Amino acid sequence: MRKPELLWLCIFTSALCLAASPVVESDIEATDAARIIQFALQPSSLQTNLRNLTDEIGGRVPGTPAMQRAIDWGVQAFKAAGADSVHTEEFVIPNSWAEGATEMTVSATGTQLPKVEFHVRCVSVAWAPALASVKHVPVIDVGKGSPAEFAKAGDISGKIVLIHSTVLKTWDDLFAEYAIAPPVITAAVHGKAKAVAFIATREHDILYRHTNSAEGEIDRIPQVLVAREDGERIGRLLASGHPVWADLSIPNQIAGPIKTANVIAEIKGSEKPDEFVILGAHLDSWELGTGALDNGCNAALVVDALRTIKASGLRPRRSIRFILFSGEEEGLLGSRAYAVAHRPELDNAGGVIIYDSGIGKTTGFADGGRKDVLETAHRLIAPLHQFGVTELKTDMEWGTDHFDFMLEGVPTFVADQDESNYLENYHAVSDTYDKVDFAQLKKHVAEAAEFSFALANLPEKIGPRFTRAQIENSLHETDSEEMLKASGLWDAWQGGRLGRQK
Ligand SMILES: [Zn+2]
Repeated sequence: MRKPELLWLCIFTSALCLAASPVVESDIEATDAARIIQFALQPSSLQTNLRNLTDEIGGRVPGTPAMQRAIDWGVQAFKAAGADSVHTEEFVIPNSWAEGATEMTVSATGTQLPKVEFHVRCVSVAWAPALASVKHVPVIDVGKGSPAEFAKAGDISGKIVLIHSTVLKTWDDLFAEYAIAPPVITAAVHGKAKAVAFIATREHDILYRHTNSAEGEIDRIPQVLVAREDGERIGRLLASGHPVWADLSIPNQIAGPIKTANVIAEIKGSEKPDEFVILGAHLDSWELGTGALDNGCNAALVVDALRTIKASGLRPRRSIRFILFSGEEEGLLGSRAYAVAHRPELDNAGGVIIYDSGIGKTTGFADGGRKDVLETAHRLIAPLHQFGVTELKTDMEWGTDHFDFMLEGVPTFVADQDESNYLENYHAVSDTYDKVDFAQLKKHVAEAAEFSFALANLPEKIGPRFTRAQIENSLHETDSEEMLKASGLWDAWQGGRLGRQK
């Protein structure tokens, strides 16, 4: 239902409305936006919801009881927020994975060196295979793991390869961290290494969880992430000519396929209920911390955006689906399952908005390589200039839940956010509720609610679904083929297993 006073005005001035519809439409957009922002900034259960999700449920890995409790949390929170309907959709992840009591101790000897022995703070890399306890295994330093450094290292068979890193400071550093791992793993497997020891990119003994497997499959070689201070100490011992040996045990618990689920709530559209816009964020997280910045705060944001739109009394022309995805951390598996299951109706999708970068200030959105939607999108985000949201980039990105929709040709908008405190706490023990700036998060609720409502309320969809040829063209124009190759999904795209078929 649109605002009554605007309807009233239109009834009495219908001829004028038709004659000058662009002007009136943008006036309505501005009025609606102001109302939605006003309701977004009002007190709500945002903080309580996030505290329940993080402190009381905790880290949320698919297949664990905590993830199931989080799914129940999502259903209840959406109902309490006033959703027209809420349901879950199950999908399967190829393997379950849980870390056991990973243990690593190293010793070094040498002439003029008393025996050095110390415990190494480390965790297993996620979805990496287990390693039964091994003793006195040589550690070999392979620098940053480039092909030249592997060649220089020589025989690595049966050894633990130590891989150095730089301290994580920027988004580019993070993408580089992900891109470095797959070729290192390939080289380690090729050279028959026993395991890979990645030195953490965070200082102060911060440990965090990464996965280097692309689609929830168990990786090819055991891997540990070692605390930066311990890893560098091992590197210095080796550099000073002292052989280093490790005792290592990685008793990961691995089993067969597991079921998990996405949570979907809906506000039904008033004129075109079969057409829809998606506002989404992933609900799952790693479990060393409690997944507050990544991505509990944005799951709570999606719930509060629904609450905002319902409370405003406005009803969009198209439906809005508010989705909490599972399996994101294992390779965007929940959003992929949703995009594949809903492929027959994706021609009706009017846009997908995703938040997945903690509470850093939003500067704009990356639009998945769509020049055709820029002009309208700029108009729709104009009311968000007050929050600093001004930029639209035609970037195609990997790394969050818009990805499969983008490759299906649907217009996507990923919030571009400042780094803030995201990177230092990324996937780490320190990603907890206390890191969340709620004043900032409230602004993001306003942005997400305004933009998703505006997209859903356009007279016509912001843009058509791109054909495969158009998507290929966007990939080429934005130099994104390399991004697909680095994310390990190029073959799947090329072979038609991923994205729009034609
Ligand atoms: Zn995330």
